[in-house]
Amino acid sequence: MSKFIFVTGGVVSSLGKGITVASLGMLLKSRGLKVSVLKLDPYLNMDPGTMSPLQHGEVFVTEDGGQCDLDLGHYERFIDTNLTKKCNVSTGQIYWSILSGERQGQFNGGTVQVIPHVTNAIKNRILSVAEDSGADVILVEIGGTVGDIEGLPFFEAIRQMRIDVGADSCLYIHVTLIPYIAAAQELKTKPTQHSVKELRSIGIRPDVIVCRSEQAMTEDLRAKIALFCDIDEEAVIPNTDVESIYEVPLCFAESRLDEIVLEKLNLEAGPAKLDEWRDLVAAIKGLSRTVTVGIVGKYVSLPDSYLSVAESLRHAGFAKGAHVELRWIEAEDLEQGCSQELEGLDGIVVPGGFGSRGVEGKIRAARYAREKKIPFFGISLGMQCAVIELARNVAGLPDAGSVEFGECEHPVISFGPGQPEVTGLGGSMRLGAYPCLVQAGTHSREAYREELVHERHRHRYELNREYLDILADAGMRVAGISPDGQLIEIIELEDHPWFVGTLFQPEFKSRPTRPHPLFVHFIEAILKTC
Ligand code: GLN
Repeated sequence: MSKFIFVTGGVVSSLGKGITVASLGMLLKSRGLKVSVLKLDPYLNMDPGTMSPLQHGEVFVTEDGGQCDLDLGHYERFIDTNLTKKCNVSTGQIYWSILSGERQGQFNGGTVQVIPHVTNAIKNRILSVAEDSGADVILVEIGGTVGDIEGLPFFEAIRQMRIDVGADSCLYIHVTLIPYIAAAQELKTKPTQHSVKELRSIGIRPDVIVCRSEQAMTEDLRAKIALFCDIDEEAVIPNTDVESIYEVPLCFAESRLDEIVLEKLNLEAGPAKLDEWRDLVAAIKGLSRTVTVGIVGKYVSLPDSYLSVAESLRHAGFAKGAHVELRWIEAEDLEQGCSQELEGLDGIVVPGGFGSRGVEGKIRAARYAREKKIPFFGISLGMQCAVIELARNVAGLPDAGSVEFGECEHPVISFGPGQPEVTGLGGSMRLGAYPCLVQAGTHSREAYREELVHERHRHRYELNREYLDILADAGMRVAGISPDGQLIEIIELEDHPWFVGTLFQPEFKSRPTRPHPLFVHFIEAILKTC
């Protein structure tokens, strides 16, 4: 039987609840427990696949092709586990399943209601992840903040879970903000008191309160929160800002968060094995060199849009002793000319994206990297832009383009063989992990050190094989291909220190303790050239 830990948020959003969940999951796994995680998102969309990254940050893709909230990325990176599309639940999915059932007469003429039908559907999703994963502990994060109208059915469902599975199988953690008021030079607990009151008014009594604050909390403050919120003093866990998010699990271990959780859940587990993680944090603190990498995209005003790419670059830096400084570059700003913005960069990344805005700027960035021989990593749309650039400026096809951006004479990026045409938003994309054979004698093979790899995809268009010969003459080599030989997965440029483009998005598989080989090789190439 699994135990359940529910994590809610109070006071404000963006408190880093996801990192709290990921860090606690990491600590529990290090004690030998099997851990799985769910994120419950109260919005009405089916999934974040069609939402603007400028609102919700990146879409994280799971092995099985789920388009998920970016918090799943934190969970996978910290806990070093693969999750599935079932691990991200939205109100939209819950209502969709209920209403489809209703149309099929599943409710026998009964009235369909939020309680019990919606709450039961939510609980069933949680229980089904518990059953599929066979995990000892299921961490469940509820998106949004207590008090949001749209979150109410989720809060009610997790309240009921305590009755369904028993009080010693459920634990509630509330993550709140302790703001610092500069004029009074004081940290304030009142918002936390109010938010706990709100939680209690819907029937949930928190067992643990995690307090996010800019400055360290005093013992007095902890005691005050314990008293006013009616919880044990040791269960008030400080979570002060740290330089690197990867320090958070060690801070929690110091506050005994994992031990408190185990005691309250009546769970036996071994001691926490944190040596590898301690080495990681020591490596992060001891980075001796700095390299500057430019990320050219159209959502750079919200860097969370490229969260996994940024983390993967950092992970590779940790492994190579280099602090990777990121320069965010708005692709549209490069459309008139680009030397200024790109000057002084040690490496350039053009990450994934959709739509034509900024594409000409991305193509210019690829050209700049090719001509100036700066290490370049093109990911998905970034790879497609690099191919278009080569076709236009080297292969002599000035009207080369992608069918995504409308008609062009030479669609070097086009539909794959047998691929259906677009059928509404979210349809016909290649999603999730696919195999790729990495060709010998390439940078990619040197990086991976193996021939067969699996990488996660999220794109609709492919490299048009009709142009392969012409592109090869222009200096492009195929470095990765699907086992049936039909789809080009990785391209590289000859005669360049490091110019690699992948149709898949390798960033979804990088972990701080197991950085992705392509990112590591990219940083290595940068360190060699700068
Ligand atoms: N828009 C491109 C496609 O659909 C690339 C997608 C991406 O970068 N993930 O093929």
